[in-house]
Amino acid sequence: MIMNGKRIAAIALCLQCIMLSRCIHYTRTDRMRTTMRVSILENAQTVMITGIIGATYCTDKKISAQDKFPVLVKGKHNTVIVNNKTYHGNLELLNVNNAIRVINIVDMEDYLKGVVPCEIGRISPALAEAAKAQAVAARTYACAHIDQYASLGFDLYSTIRDQVYRDMSVETELTNQAIDETKGEILSYQGRPIEAKYHSTCGGQTADFNDAWPGTPPPYLQSVRCTYCETSPHFTWEKRYEAGDFYAGLRMKLKEIGSAIPDSEYIKNISLIRNKRSKRILRVEITTKVRTYTIPGYQVRALFGDKNDPGDLLKSNYVMLGVKDGKIVLWGHGFGHGVGMCQFGAIEMSRQGKTYKEILQHYYTGVKLTRMR
Ligand SMILES: [Zn+2]
Repeated sequence: MIMNGKRIAAIALCLQCIMLSRCIHYTRTDRMRTTMRVSILENAQTVMITGIIGATYCTDKKISAQDKFPVLVKGKHNTVIVNNKTYHGNLELLNVNNAIRVINIVDMEDYLKGVVPCEIGRISPALAEAAKAQAVAARTYACAHIDQYASLGFDLYSTIRDQVYRDMSVETELTNQAIDETKGEILSYQGRPIEAKYHSTCGGQTADFNDAWPGTPPPYLQSVRCTYCETSPHFTWEKRYEAGDFYAGLRMKLKEIGSAIPDSEYIKNISLIRNKRSKRILRVEITTKVRTYTIPGYQVRALFGDKNDPGDLLKSNYVMLGVKDGKIVLWGHGFGHGVGMCQFGAIEMSRQGKTYKEILQHYYTGVKLTRMR
């Protein structure tokens, strides 16, 4: 990256340049503001910063957890460098429990430039409509989560906890163009930005909201048929276990999710009760000689996941359980929570000539495409 290539000596005066007060102002109550605050680094003891601190342009200035905070860094030509990574916008550094948190204060459209390529992956110009659908979904998600962590001083994590956001090195011409061509567009329901959930692969049928989370389901996040993601490497999968390993792992996971079964209780049967529409598991009933334990569907991925799965979560809760060749087998479909837009499906719809509006309307039931105000 050109911004990383040239290094000049740090300017000694920088030590005096750490601003001691006043955060960069933003209005917490304006739900449609267009500047996002994204936590891009946490729990750091030191961080190297290039940008304008106070009135001085500093290059690779070392900030340590012992310095005074907050530290505000203004971008030169709207760019800052954090540990050799270049970002749009400005920074605010906070001290949290004797460690540094770096918050990138970035225009919504610039934020999306670091999100869309991470979330949709590398795609060809023929699949531009999928990139545009991803841009609108990611913009909508961000709008709906403004002030999500207001007490911590930011809106979004830069990980799968919210949306994956990286520095400018991930940007591509194609994804930047998709963002530009949908500038300001979001999905709304009854005048508010929707919870624009999306996932890698649904496996043939997307999930209902409650298949993944408890609570009141938004009417636009309901299961729909998806005939587009069969080419995904995650469309079907299976996992095999020796019976002893499976039950030992199951008991350990039951403990972790707060539904421990005493070791003295022999497990006689495991029943999977399904959501007829989405085919996901509504609840798991584990019967011992003493009683039946019920685990809700939204805990299935944690219940059957193991250390070989990303985040210790089973790839999806669209799964069957059985025995084959003396092994216990989980046969599954899809990857992710399954709610909202199926990304592999969106790519295939784009390949088949569907527009980004058609893609979004397929996966989000009854929503409107509107503009941020
Ligand atoms: Zn799908």
